[in-house]
Amino acid sequence: MPIQTPESSKTPFFAKTIPNTLALPCQAEHVFVLDDESALPVLQAALVPGESYKVIGSASNLVLPSHLHDRVVLVALEGIEVIQEDATSALITVAAGQPWHEWVQTALAAGWHGLENLALIPGTVGAAPVQNIGAYGVEVSQNIEYVRVWDFDAGAIRQLSRQDCQFAYRKSLFKQPHGQRLLILSVCFRLTKRPAWRPVLSYPDLKELAADEAQVTPQRVFDRVVSVRRHKLPDPMEIPNVGSFFKNPVVTQATVESLRQRYPDLVAYRQADGSQKLAAGWLIDKCGWKGRRLGAVGMHHRQALVLINAENGQAADVLALADAVQKDVLEMFGVTLDVEPNCWV
Ligand SMILES: Cc1cc2nc3c(=O)[nH]c(=O)nc-3n(C[C@H](O)[C@H](O)[C@H](O)COP(=O)(O)OP(=O)(O)OC[C@H]3O[C@@H](n4cnc5c(N)ncnc54)[C@H](O)[C@@H]3O)c2cc1C
Repeated sequence: MPIQTPESSKTPFFAKTIPNTLALPCQAEHVFVLDDESALPVLQAALVPGESYKVIGSASNLVLPSHLHDRVVLVALEGIEVIQEDATSALITVAAGQPWHEWVQTALAAGWHGLENLALIPGTVGAAPVQNIGAYGVEVSQNIEYVRVWDFDAGAIRQLSRQDCQFAYRKSLFKQPHGQRLLILSVCFRLTKRPAWRPVLSYPDLKELAADEAQVTPQRVFDRVVSVRRHKLPDPMEIPNVGSFFKNPVVTQATVESLRQRYPDLVAYRQADGSQKLAAGWLIDKCGWKGRRLGAVGMHHRQALVLINAENGQAADVLALADAVQKDVLEMFGVTLDVEPNCWV
């Protein structure tokens, strides 16, 4: 019997195993690989109106089921284009399928700065605005000028300004119900050139660079971030994980004061609006979960916020552990932990 190809079946969808950084087994039945914007009308026509679909970059922030029945668009668009450049800044459009860390390296080498603190985050450029990736005191939204999307409701390309994207901590329009009908095609960054560039060194791990701020270069910040991340976070190629499994809970000043009476060493960071961000890893550690396993999965021994798939666990194992951790944190601190990756289980 001949092997069925997209041509012979007259469908642009394939069945495909979805590699993911949590190493969960996942077979998707209908996958469309988007590697050229000219294929968008074909994709639009192939999706049944009203039927749900999923968009995947590199699956580094997903908890996937063993079988994904929805139609899946795998974003593989490539390209980097300089829109405008002068002595102090550059406007660059990067296609959604470009690997994030490679783009950070390219920008650094070209003298376009502002992304150094976001080095070594796995994933694609197109996924970065979705949860407004952030690390070491910087969020990607600070450097975004606009985002180009394919709007499945309109069947057309639209350009969304930074304000349109409604960025907040680990949030954006793309996480809201209507935003999930938008496929990000490219992201336009406004980056700074030296000497206009200013380092962001507020995060504790970068404080030692701050002592010598006049000598700090973008390369030094990049190197420091890469080295700290390599030391603190398990490499998903060796120990499957999705980075932080929970968001840092944002609470009121009164909650922090009350908790500090019982836990004087509570870790909390004051936010610009007066609220406080608690360190979820600290809460999890205090509940005794750091380095502890539940079946095939566990919380990492160096970073309690990172859930690892130690021994070929399944999505159900991941969710059972997440649930146990959430319950313990709620019971001990009265604080709700929200899951950070997208759970499609
Ligand atoms: C070791 C490790 C460390 C990490 N550290 C950080 C960190 O420091 N900070 C941080 O913020 N995150 C971190 N993450 C999480 C992850 O890297 C980011 O969320 C990343 O942006 C996900 O990219 P992706 O291409 O893998 O997206 P996926 O996991 O494929 O998708 C994530 C979400 O984005 C949507 N999506 C993807 N591409 C598109 C597109 N083109 N258009 C519309 N929607 C799209 C998906 O539908 C899904 O909802 C880490 C993950 C790992 C494994």
